[in-house]
Amino acid sequence: MAIWNRARECCEREERAQEQWEHLQITLNRAYKNVPFYRNRLQSRAIAPPRVESLTDLRRIPFTARHDFSDQYPYGLFAVPLRDIVRIHTAPGTSLNPTVSGYTRSDLRMWREIAATGLAACGVGADDIMQIILDPGLANWGRDYKDGAEELGASVIPLNALHLKKQLMVLRDYKISVLITTPTSAVELLELLYAINLNPNALALRVLILVGEPLAAEVRRQLEDELHVSCWCHYGLSEIPGPAVAFECEQHRGLHLQEDHFLAEILTDSGEAIENGEPGELILTTLTTRAFPLIRFRTGDRARIISEPCACGRTLKRIEWLPERADGMLVFRGVKLHDEQILAHVEHVLGTVPRSWRIRLEKEGARRELVLSLAMDERLFSDEIKELEQVVWRLESELLQELGIPVAVRLQERLE
Ligand SMILES: [Zn+2]
Repeated sequence: MAIWNRARECCEREERAQEQWEHLQITLNRAYKNVPFYRNRLQSRAIAPPRVESLTDLRRIPFTARHDFSDQYPYGLFAVPLRDIVRIHTAPGTSLNPTVSGYTRSDLRMWREIAATGLAACGVGADDIMQIILDPGLANWGRDYKDGAEELGASVIPLNALHLKKQLMVLRDYKISVLITTPTSAVELLELLYAINLNPNALALRVLILVGEPLAAEVRRQLEDELHVSCWCHYGLSEIPGPAVAFECEQHRGLHLQEDHFLAEILTDSGEAIENGEPGELILTTLTTRAFPLIRFRTGDRARIISEPCACGRTLKRIEWLPERADGMLVFRGVKLHDEQILAHVEHVLGTVPRSWRIRLEKEGARRELVLSLAMDERLFSDEIKELEQVVWRLESELLQELGIPVAVRLQERLE
């Protein structure tokens, strides 16, 4: 039986590799033909798609980085005519230009299928009532998860602008059984539950799907123990193209990559391929998206491939998603940030950046808060408490509006 299973797994892997190769050719040809950015880069390495003859040839192709989204703003990376685009998504991005991605009808169907596959692996079905609580920076994920859950017949409460306290009321009163949120928001929800003396037994919640940030083992344990739920982790790209690129199965031992749609590579810092399960940067190439192909996109996320077969029987490759990053960016509530982005908004509001500043994630137990500390600089701030409060309010409002996540601003005499 074990030998038969291994033979079947081997056969499935070979078939999948062949399909990946075919889809890759189509993707490269479309990008080469329709996107000058990709065409020029391929030509710079003397690569024309007909000459890419194996998956290993892919490694000769230059990477795509986050700053390319900004450089090609708004439509420079679209690979189909605008008349074929039916949805344009805007995300805060990691520079001053937002990140724009486009979807054809078939892309939307594809994302619905990807989200449905990830949700079905968590046991989501027609009997479930699902709530989605994500910050505005992850709005496209909210839409894709809604579509995926509807595909499975679940009832969905989509993204909304309700305050966390109202969200908790919905969670309890609507008898929500599945909640999708970030680990940070889940912890906040748990704290709020205690703060208002609500017993977790009053909830019908059974599945907590955590997205946007790697899930620390102790946070998973706390949420499972105290909310009486099972936690499932999903991996996706926050700016583009969407969620559930990799998902946990019932074994909860790594995340299965949706290899029918994405080709994954793990690379060392110097760009060498890693094959032996050692950690490195995750590089993704889309295989089925039409409007917005990504070729060798540097995710900045660190991961390692788990080569052992999974006991669930799926033959999709698994990754372990690691907490540290390859690109030094901060990830908070699923949104990726550079210090420079935050400082650019400080400059916009105050007209200058104080000489001394600090941006860091502060942790208290499982709770995380992104804090911007600014040294009180006589050039900037008066002694009037009201005016100082006004500065904090203006900065926090601008950062929430522009980045789609809350940033706590603190003005201090001096920074240690
Ligand atoms: Zn599995």
